[in-house]
Amino acid sequence: MVKLLNGARNIVELSDPVEKLKGIGPKTAETLRKFGIRTIRDFFYNLPRDYEVYEAPTSISEIKPGKVVIKGKIDSLTSRQAKRRNLFVTEGVVRDGTGAVKVVWFNQRYRLKQFSPDKEYYFTGNYELKNGRYSIISPSAAEVAEVDLKTGLSPVYVAHGALKSHDFRRLMRLSRDKFHFIPDLLPTVPKDTRKKALFNAHFPNSSKTVASARDYLAYEELFELILAARLNRRENDKLKAISVPFNQEKTKEFISNLPFKLTNAQRWAIWTIFQNIQNHTPMNRLLQGDVGSGKTMVATLASYGVALAGGQVAILAPTAILASQHYAGISETLWEYGIRVALLTGATKHKEDLKKQIAKGEVDIVIGTHALLTDDTEFARLELVVIDEQHRFGVEQRQKLMLKSPAGLAPHLLSMTATPIPRSLQLTVFGDLDVSVLNELPSGRKPVTTKILTELEIQEKLYPQMLKILESEPDSKKHGEMARGQQIYWICKAIEDGNSAVSEATSVKTRTRRLKEVFPQYRVEYLHGKMKPSEKDEIMEQFASGEIDILVSTTVVEVGVDVPNATLMVIENAESYGLAQLHQLRGRVGRGTSEAYCFLLTSGDIPPSRRLRELEKSNDGFYLAEVDLKLRGPGEIYGALQHGALDLRIASLSDTKLIARAQKDVMEFLQNPENMVKYTELMSGIKKYQQITTLN
Ligand code: ADP
Ligand code: MG
Repeated sequence: MVKLLNGARNIVELSDPVEKLKGIGPKTAETLRKFGIRTIRDFFYNLPRDYEVYEAPTSISEIKPGKVVIKGKIDSLTSRQAKRRNLFVTEGVVRDGTGAVKVVWFNQRYRLKQFSPDKEYYFTGNYELKNGRYSIISPSAAEVAEVDLKTGLSPVYVAHGALKSHDFRRLMRLSRDKFHFIPDLLPTVPKDTRKKALFNAHFPNSSKTVASARDYLAYEELFELILAARLNRRENDKLKAISVPFNQEKTKEFISNLPFKLTNAQRWAIWTIFQNIQNHTPMNRLLQGDVGSGKTMVATLASYGVALAGGQVAILAPTAILASQHYAGISETLWEYGIRVALLTGATKHKEDLKKQIAKGEVDIVIGTHALLTDDTEFARLELVVIDEQHRFGVEQRQKLMLKSPAGLAPHLLSMTATPIPRSLQLTVFGDLDVSVLNELPSGRKPVTTKILTELEIQEKLYPQMLKILESEPDSKKHGEMARGQQIYWICKAIEDGNSAVSEATSVKTRTRRLKEVFPQYRVEYLHGKMKPSEKDEIMEQFASGEIDILVSTTVVEVGVDVPNATLMVIENAESYGLAQLHQLRGRVGRGTSEAYCFLLTSGDIPPSRRLRELEKSNDGFYLAEVDLKLRGPGEIYGALQHGALDLRIASLSDTKLIARAQKDVMEFLQNPENMVKYTELMSGIKKYQQITTLN
């Protein structure tokens, strides 16, 4: 067992609850638990998001506008509610003997309690003119005594509820002596040790040690991931599945009846899937394709094939909106072939009856959300599971579905994602999956014209453009029967004013009110994740049918929703989204044949970021993914870096050297079966990546 020395008296283990650490009482532990930090291991692995550098502070008498670092004591802390609603302003005065300067924070109430008047602090932020006076706006701050003197480096932690960055620094210091006894996790390691890496990450003494700590921990993470992938594949290959016979004649007939020609990429993917599901080994295939590449049609055809052969299919979607939309599309395509399709979400009425029908095999294809996963949903003959936007689902949820197959048999699995995965990584990091790529968009698609606008240009430039769209001939009568003109999405950051992450962002509700005033003759409605599923579905249906002209929404429309008559999208606070997410969002328009537009709104305070400029230039998801990798790649230290399909916390897909190294080491590790018994912490740690446990 792993022993750690606790204050030279008590022995603690990495798997012990966080309460065992100094300074962490029941209340703090409760907060930490809410954010997934339960054990001492979790706590140590809660790595800084970034490091602030408090190097060479400037005397206050000498500071100039721009980024500054100062050192001094703070007094006169006050706070007030600003005239503009929902802005809670905290101000203070920092003095250093040469002068005094005002510091200002917005919506950071905890600043009132962070400082003691007799202690010295570093502050760093932008010294600028705001409301007619110079002050340092929203500076980071750290106690001088806590910052490494030589380097001025101070870790920045993501706030977890009431626990702010400086609280984490304080708690970490209280546990400083516990790092010595952390054992290594892996048999083969790059030069450092785990204890050293973790220690250096939390107590940085040079940017070099920080970088090598990061590499060490990234390597560890990649090793786990690749090992899990390898073991998944082994497990998968041991499983048995029902072989689904291929009905060539009916498949051909189906394809020739489609209103469009399948792309070559779609044909190839479908053909491969039909090959796979004829095997007695379950298929485990990832279908990767940019937004709009037609993944749903591939899934529909595969489902049709399974239903023809008498099997059942479960299609899992991340949101109720998407599930209903898949249901509408797929049932419309398949009803003339006598395939029985059902929708099962939280809002479904007569759930019990439907579940009985599913259990009796009276339904061929069930489309749904999490509601599909409850234990009482049983299938008579589940042979194929399709998971749309698979990265949205946890491993556990996937397992649940896998377990719904007939005894002793596993269903074939098709996962779909719009996140491009570089080819070089498909074999390593995704070693347990076969991958099909839809690298071609249906013909006739035009790129979405994308423009960055500042909020000041809304009146003059955006509204006229919106009006033009609203007055244009509808794009496709089929989908928007009721539409008078073309339709618009307007994406907002927050649902209501106040208490949001982006406190100054206009909310869905406020924006809806304003747009109603500007476009009184059109119907403007809103949509957000906190609405009841039935309400969301209703709004979405009305938007899809063209009854609603402008839909103001949070990012709930991000995944998969398909309204070809919507040809303009506005993304407010565009700077607050990642590149991948912006690209996903934009993919909601440009799905018909008309010219489509996307406007990225920024405050205009600072020049637009490279992210937005790249988005303006390109519509190519693979290109943007590469740019994204580069932009966040080595520059970003730690942080909840999520590569869509992959849940990497530390490593990045641009760590190609580390990936190659981990790949090689995993292969060696697997040569020796004893390792699987010996490295207990590692083996239990990788469960989080494992797809299939036991199926019996
Ligand atoms: P995604 O890959 O983003 O899930 P969808 O499956 O939603 O894309 O497809 C987007 C739209 O393109 C849908 O309206 C669909 O009917 C249509 N579509 C799919 N395949 C083709 C094709 N080969 N030619 C023309 N349109 C297609
Ligand atoms: Mg889709």
